[in-house]
Amino acid sequence: MTPFECPDRKCPKCESTQYLFRARKTVPGPNGPEVETKYRCQACGAVWAARVPAPGRPEQREGDAA
Ligand SMILES: [Zn+2]
Repeated sequence: MTPFECPDRKCPKCESTQYLFRARKTVPGPNGPEVETKYRCQACGAVWAARVPAPGRPEQREGDAA
């Protein structure tokens, strides 16, 4: 159980680690809410998003009928 982490901490295009934080928002995912964080590469200008499961809120699971 990892509470919060960024799986892709480098540019997916040029693999540079020189990136800028762009935005963060919570979006619905297949297993519950996810936090989508957008980054922009300073080296090549690529923009990408990394998603991780949103921390907490276990009561918001979907498809878990009692
Ligand atoms: Zn890049």
